[in-house]
Amino acid sequence: MYKHRSRPRQNNRYGRRNSGARRQGGFRIKSFDPSHVVRMSPVAEDEISEPIHAFSDFDISDNLKANISKRGYTKPTPIQDQAIPVILSGRDVVGVANTGTGKTAAFLVPLINKVINDKRLKVLIIAPTRELAVQIDKEFQSFARGLGIYSTVCIGGVSIHGQVQKLRRGSNFVIGTPGRLLDLENQKKLYFNQYSSIVLDEVDRMLDMGFIHDINEIISKLPRDRQSLFFSATLESKAKGVMGDFINNPVMISVKTTDTRANVYQDIIKLNGRNKADVLCELLDKEEVNKTLIFTRTKRGADSLHRNLSRVNFQVTVLHGNKSQNQRQKSLDQFRQNRVNILIATDVASRGIDIDDISHVINYDLPESYEAYIHRIGRTGRADKKGVALTFVG
Ligand code: AMP
Repeated sequence: MYKHRSRPRQNNRYGRRNSGARRQGGFRIKSFDPSHVVRMSPVAEDEISEPIHAFSDFDISDNLKANISKRGYTKPTPIQDQAIPVILSGRDVVGVANTGTGKTAAFLVPLINKVINDKRLKVLIIAPTRELAVQIDKEFQSFARGLGIYSTVCIGGVSIHGQVQKLRRGSNFVIGTPGRLLDLENQKKLYFNQYSSIVLDEVDRMLDMGFIHDINEIISKLPRDRQSLFFSATLESKAKGVMGDFINNPVMISVKTTDTRANVYQDIIKLNGRNKADVLCELLDKEEVNKTLIFTRTKRGADSLHRNLSRVNFQVTVLHGNKSQNQRQKSLDQFRQNRVNILIATDVASRGIDIDDISHVINYDLPESYEAYIHRIGRTGRADKKGVALTFVG
């Protein structure tokens, strides 16, 4: 589709020598080498279990069922299968689920149904990144079409004014990142104690990003009488601490049978002294390497690789924390809509971004930790499609 460029062979040497990013400013940077954990052969399809319910079995409104069907979902994913009836019953839930398992619909469907039954109810969804909040809202829009229920996305990096106006008009769902939500609360534009259904999404990621105080502050302001839903890919001790303060007698649902999904084929690429950028170019030139997400360690590294790949005519864009919210959204849209087939990103993009059909994730720089590795490679192989995750090792 986008084998796109004519690159003179002699031009293909650029970039710094291999693994230059391991040391910065004299400090050794923590990194995780996945050589020992990659799964070298794909796992049998039958590891993916069949759901017990059909969407039609759930006790939800017919209009909502119709919207789910219009969205193209024919049967629930395992987390939806288990979580939807439990959330509908009003219980608190702890969902341990990898990204890409369908957890967004697992909480949106029952919560939307709750609001259909009582339009005075307010739902607060807290996500670690702006991109994830926007993503959740897109899913919300498709399920809520024509139902007379509305959302406001409250994220940083864009003007607060429009958000304040939307909140004033009344929204059943507020979907936001912790910092902006607290700003709005401080300005008395929203009141956490009015929200009776709360979702903390990707809690492990929020904690990695240093949101623990913000989260605790928000939790302390929530009403006592509420339904609390907690989703995290891992339950480490810090996450368990937050969980204890947030959740009440939860139903635990885990769809994490293994740390990586069966449909992601993983491998490592040993550089053996070859120039890293050259090896990358050769790889990107291969026919099967289609829609590719490349991870670098630093923002500077991402920009530099972006310049280098653009120079040799790859269709490429870049996403990292120094870009404005508009630029970040633009890059994502270009990639999502296949206007470019390569996105270079730092770990800010590694969770919650739901782009279908990413054929390859390439760890150009090693991830920081095992968890970061799992989250990066979770960007491919979504919704049971096949994906390939390749990691460059010095
Ligand atoms: P999530 O884990 O919520 O980010 O969802 C991952 C991907 O799975 C997204 O592309 C969803 O649109 C897709 N998805 C979620 N639920 C279903 C379903 N029941 N059937 C098919 N695709 C789904």
